[in-house]
Amino acid sequence: MNNILILSPHTDDGELGCGGTIAKLIREGKNILWIAFSTASESLPPNLPPDTLGKEFSNVAKYIGLKENQFITYDYKVRKLAESRQEILEELVKIKKDFKPDLVIGPSLNDYHQDHQVISSEMVRAFKTSASIICYELPWNHIEFKTQFFVELSEEDLEKKKKMLSFYKSQQIANRHYFTDDFVKGIACTRGTQINTKYAEAFEVIRWRML
Ligand SMILES: [Zn+2]
Repeated sequence: MNNILILSPHTDDGELGCGGTIAKLIREGKNILWIAFSTASESLPPNLPPDTLGKEFSNVAKYIGLKENQFITYDYKVRKLAESRQEILEELVKIKKDFKPDLVIGPSLNDYHQDHQVISSEMVRAFKTSASIICYELPWNHIEFKTQFFVELSEEDLEKKKKMLSFYKSQQIANRHYFTDDFVKGIACTRGTQINTKYAEAFEVIRWRML
């Protein structure tokens, strides 16, 4: 398993859901392509420039060592991804042909954010016959989440996840407590405890291909 595609409906979702796993995959030398579909410029505090989240995402990608061709930011309108559903599917099909991911990591089918639902459904539609598909956890968006698959994290992976989230100054202004070090460590400990290790991230499995 070498080519791994990460899908973020908005620029911070991948870091929140699987930042530790991304740090681990990079540490292991995997080939990552990371896509964010919306920079959510309309939901920023009014005093911030519209490209704030795009810049923060690009700073995260550079911090973890991704090259310019390893992350893509689209500018679909926040909360309106459903209006571009077909376009998004066609992009994903193109990426399937060009990048040929073995593993795709994206939002859960049980995620109730309207934009996350679009990316989750189109992810399954595009990759169901060609790749393993797992879904990251964003507890504030779920009624149910099945902890079916775990990635053990090192201390270093967890620190990297905290550092990645620290780039999102715009979201800390918005006072979202799931950006805090306490929350990040708390959920990593909870998921770690489920597999008798210190830290982990949990995922739902849509499809798993043993290669
Ligand atoms: Zn989101």
